[in-house]
Amino acid sequence: MLIYTGAKDIHSFLLKNKSNRRSIGFVPTMGALHSGHLSLIENSKKLHDITVCSIFVNPSQFNQKDDFEKYPITTSKDIELLLSTACDVLFLPSTQEIYPAGWNSEAQIDIGDLANIWEGHFRPGHFAGVVQIVKLLLEIIVPNAIYMGQKDYQQCLVIDKLIKSQHFDTQLHMCPIIREADGLAMSSRNSRLSASAREDALVLYKALCYIKDNFQLQSNHELLHTAESYFHNHENIKLEYIVIADRNSLSALIDQKENAIVLVVAWIDGVRLLDNSLL
Ligand code: AMP
Repeated sequence: MLIYTGAKDIHSFLLKNKSNRRSIGFVPTMGALHSGHLSLIENSKKLHDITVCSIFVNPSQFNQKDDFEKYPITTSKDIELLLSTACDVLFLPSTQEIYPAGWNSEAQIDIGDLANIWEGHFRPGHFAGVVQIVKLLLEIIVPNAIYMGQKDYQQCLVIDKLIKSQHFDTQLHMCPIIREADGLAMSSRNSRLSASAREDALVLYKALCYIKDNFQLQSNHELLHTAESYFHNHENIKLEYIVIADRNSLSALIDQKENAIVLVVAWIDGVRLLDNSLL
């Protein structure tokens, strides 16, 4: 596996390969890799000659300093995992390499309402940071396709909008959520959960399963009412939101049963976890 830390170096390497008709699949991550990330790399490898993974903990997308400072960094283990999946190229830049003039100096791109509801509402500035880094990475990597997880469903919609509005010649592939054996969605933040918080964290998956299993039997309001009660039974769990929404606009659905997704975010012992399920 080739490891690049310089943006210009990896850009010219990949451009040369592209001009030799080699296709590039790209998997952006913030590291602390797990099987969810590796599944994106495996999906890319099926369709592309070169798979590039980036690891960069992007400061501009954290709306809480504490969350940024506590974000797990496990670079040597990440490199071993990438070698085990036969990833071709790792881009591992420093913050200075990505933002030589500081991240506040970059012009912002307006994504519209999609960036302001749910995650955008509860994490002000988050999507501006995500859009900023993904745009820079797309310019550096020039991939034919970008692979992202359904786990961050709203992020996929936002990046799809970025790709279309900026006319990037890149296809977005949204890949399924990879879960632990008991159903908890894999996440780098799971490593911050204590043993008891890890058990409590299953409540997100249970609430999603309840809604999915009963979706055609009850009204959306009834489903959400019962699912919310799951969270109220645990005192160290704080539900941030659970909503049945339209898959494209993400606006809340009152009665509609078509084209729906349920999105949930909860805090468990100070760790913010998110999950979703297509209905
Ligand atoms: P992150 O490192 O958390 O920024 O995630 C990098 C990419 O991995 C994003 O596209 C995520 O949606 C994706 N991802 C994270 N967790 C999972 C998972 N459990 N299953 C599938 N994809 C995931």
